[in-house]
Amino acid sequence: MPGARRVIERCRELATFTEVAGETTRPFLCESARAVQGLVRQWMESAGLEVRLDGMGNLRGVSARADASTTRLLLGSHLDTVPRAGAFDGVLGVVLAIEAVAADGLPIAVEVIGFSEEEGVRFRRPFLGSLAAVGRGAELHGLRDAAGETVAEALRSFGVDAGAETGLAPEAAAYVEVHIEQGPVLESLDRPLGVVEAIAGQSRYTLRFVGQSNHAGTTPMHLRRDALAAAAAWLVAVEGYARSEEGLVATVGRVEARPGASNIIPGEVTATLDVRHRDDAVRERAGQELLTRAQTTAERRGVAVEVRVELAQAAVAMDAELVGMLTSAAAEATGSTPPRMTSGAGHDAMIVAGRVPSAMLFVRSPGGLSHHPDETVRTEDVAAALMTLRGVLRMFGERSTPERTEAAHA
Ligand SMILES: [Zn+2]
Repeated sequence: MPGARRVIERCRELATFTEVAGETTRPFLCESARAVQGLVRQWMESAGLEVRLDGMGNLRGVSARADASTTRLLLGSHLDTVPRAGAFDGVLGVVLAIEAVAADGLPIAVEVIGFSEEEGVRFRRPFLGSLAAVGRGAELHGLRDAAGETVAEALRSFGVDAGAETGLAPEAAAYVEVHIEQGPVLESLDRPLGVVEAIAGQSRYTLRFVGQSNHAGTTPMHLRRDALAAAAAWLVAVEGYARSEEGLVATVGRVEARPGASNIIPGEVTATLDVRHRDDAVRERAGQELLTRAQTTAERRGVAVEVRVELAQAAVAMDAELVGMLTSAAAEATGSTPPRMTSGAGHDAMIVAGRVPSAMLFVRSPGGLSHHPDETVRTEDVAAALMTLRGVLRMFGERSTPERTEAAHA
């Protein structure tokens, strides 16, 4: 498994490029991102790709056979990281794609993309790289980071040519992204690979529970309007409801009680609610139901609830034909049909799917761990993913050959 070992070594090498010593923290357009791009560029060039930086700082490597007459398969993932990241989130998909196309006799034109920004750390808006590639870059240029710098200014000071072509080429026919699962499902099934059928939609809300703060010693229990007790009763109900619905996940990830002193009844609580499901109707119904339950639970305690909708993002289906190709290539690589999965996390494939048919292959995350320094992969799983990706390249080659022959005779 020398290919898989090289992929893992390269991912670990990229993890040493960071803005904060002793950890891997590499947000959009920082100095360590420049160093990573330099190294990935070298690897792409040794794999025979012609490399350039586009207008959003995405690194794009195109195979020599690519021209406007040949359909092009896009491969890749992102090169930025969250703070204190692991070594494989994002970069695995880029490095593995380079390894897959490095073999001689590439059967099809390919483009490997290292998206510059997916995590949304610097500008608090994710998917900047892939959004720009699908033609939505202009609306992002005015976003500001915590220091007040805009995306346009950051691109300029990084040395990105604002006029560089950023959109996907018209001959781009499909996008395949390999990514670590970032969850425990494949490990629980004891399977190396999974094929993603859909990326779950997300609803995010902020709820404000408003009761009455008062003296913790002098206010009898039956005369209280405790906002935190109301929020707590509700969040246990959220967990119960989500468990009762297949595939639904609902999370109260942040709770803040005010005034926040041990001898004062909490008068106000702010809580977040995140709801995800592959079926938008189920997600929307769940969101409504959980907001209604917040109202009824709080009302019984004399607490009012205000709701703000933060995000309503539809689920994105992966392309059925690509899912089929990945499934048979993975079955060939591993000896058994891989499980079909829903991704609970967002990925670049979700954005690119708006432009070209897209699909994803998940690689088992040992310990189910991600966005964490201990994030890892198994060599044999990476080898299977590499074989799967090469299988997809071959299938694409077989599929496009008759068209090319026809075109040659036309
Ligand atoms: Zn990622």
